[in-house]
Amino acid sequence: MWISITCRGTWEPQNNEQAISNDEIKNFYIRNSFTGMPSVLVRYWIFKFIMKKEIIIIGGGVSGITTALTLQLLGYETICYAEYLVNENAPLDPRFASLYPAASIIPHSVQTKELDTLFPASLAIFKMLHRQGMNSMIVHRHYEVFEFPKDRPAYTNYLHNYTGIKKDEPATIPHRLNAPELYGWHFDCFVARWPAYMHQLYDLYKNAGGTIRQQKIGHHKISELPAAIIINCSGAWSNNIFKDNAAQEFIRGHLVYILDKKPVVTTKNEICSYNYTPAPSVYAKPDGSPSDVYFYPVGDKWILGGSRQAGVLDNAGQWKGKVHNDTIAINNLDVPRQILELNDDILKNTFGKTIASQSSAIYASMGYRFSRNDSKNGLRLEAAEEHGKKIIHNYGHGGAGVALSWGCALNVLKLITNETDNVFQAMPRQPSFTLLDNLQVKLQKVYLELLQ
Ligand SMILES: Cc1cc2nc3c(=O)[nH]c(=O)nc-3n(C[C@H](O)[C@H](O)[C@H](O)COP(=O)(O)OP(=O)(O)OC[C@H]3O[C@@H](n4cnc5c(N)ncnc54)[C@H](O)[C@@H]3O)c2cc1C
Repeated sequence: MWISITCRGTWEPQNNEQAISNDEIKNFYIRNSFTGMPSVLVRYWIFKFIMKKEIIIIGGGVSGITTALTLQLLGYETICYAEYLVNENAPLDPRFASLYPAASIIPHSVQTKELDTLFPASLAIFKMLHRQGMNSMIVHRHYEVFEFPKDRPAYTNYLHNYTGIKKDEPATIPHRLNAPELYGWHFDCFVARWPAYMHQLYDLYKNAGGTIRQQKIGHHKISELPAAIIINCSGAWSNNIFKDNAAQEFIRGHLVYILDKKPVVTTKNEICSYNYTPAPSVYAKPDGSPSDVYFYPVGDKWILGGSRQAGVLDNAGQWKGKVHNDTIAINNLDVPRQILELNDDILKNTFGKTIASQSSAIYASMGYRFSRNDSKNGLRLEAAEEHGKKIIHNYGHGGAGVALSWGCALNVLKLITNETDNVFQAMPRQPSFTLLDNLQVKLQKVYLELLQ
């Protein structure tokens, strides 16, 4: 039982792949044991009977379940209400973004002034999950390639093993036939194997004692929910239940899955993926600005994508926006032709591989990257008073909901603890080297760093 804390300090690591070192865990416990706080056992009982507060999370996509798991592990009794979960029963609705991510941990297509805290906090947790052997977390050598000079975005400071593309390495970086000089960078990129990653999160949450209720919550029901604090992770549906004056934006993204394919690897035998942005004369967004195509080999399939079609939903829920004119129909979906043809060119010229043409081996889907049309706060991560309750909003992640999921969840905790006591200080858990226990310790550590 997790409150049996008498053997604190006597554990041994099972292998040297532990994401959290013994010292890190000991420091955490020592720091918390010598700060004048009551003993761990006393703090547990305080936590259990006095301090533990109930929180309701609305949403069962990646934001909802990550937030629910984080809060459950850091001191709250949580219930997650979700109309749909990422499983075979979910209707293929492009608004349910968590059905569609390529799931690379890169903050593409998101607008937030908090990126410098959200992204590194998320990365720290993904790194820990990978090192702990969570088998739905993989690492690629990922290339961001441009056919024109490109300024290095600030988030690249946090990437692992970042290397700028040099003039003398064009043969080894993804390129199309007759490509001009190339620019960009490559790095070790975490990628979540989808939907396996989501299923593991649902399991971790249930194992941590969380409750999932598959139920739609109407806006008139919010005031009746049995918790004073509600976390809104309802994504593109948020406007149906909560107020938001910001304009909404739905960026369509097409995905093409090529089945039964082996991973593509670099000369160093690392699994290789890329985003490749050619000159706009070769491929562009419908408004003519530069656009990338991308490629991820995940498990036994290849995932291709790269359409970013900006639009809105009208009152009838129909998407309106500019589309690409040059398309190929795959299972009745008009996919921009260059997603297939440019990727085929790059794969052939860099790795000597081709995309299969048999329709049985290919299928396509399309989802919306949902955000608010606000360059500073496209991502809404803030507290508000509505329906007589404290509502903490966590939605509008655009194309980066997976990449920022852990950082956003920890920031939700910050928004809660501004209002209440710092509950998790009262809730020690003994490190036992299970994934869940170590996730809890790591979340505590990253949260404390965020507070500094
Ligand atoms: C083509 C494409 C590629 C992408 N690639 C990446 C990528 O590589 N990396 C990355 O980080 N991100 C990527 N994204 C973005 C990512 O998919 C989203 O940011 C993320 O899935 C958003 O998750 P969410 O949980 O916030 O919202 P959603 O997944 O939309 O979940 C909303 C949840 O709320 C529930 N809900 C809504 N209303 C109610 C209600 N009234 N009552 C109960 N439940 C309700 C829904 O049922 C659902 O469970 C991509 C998106 C697309 C479309």
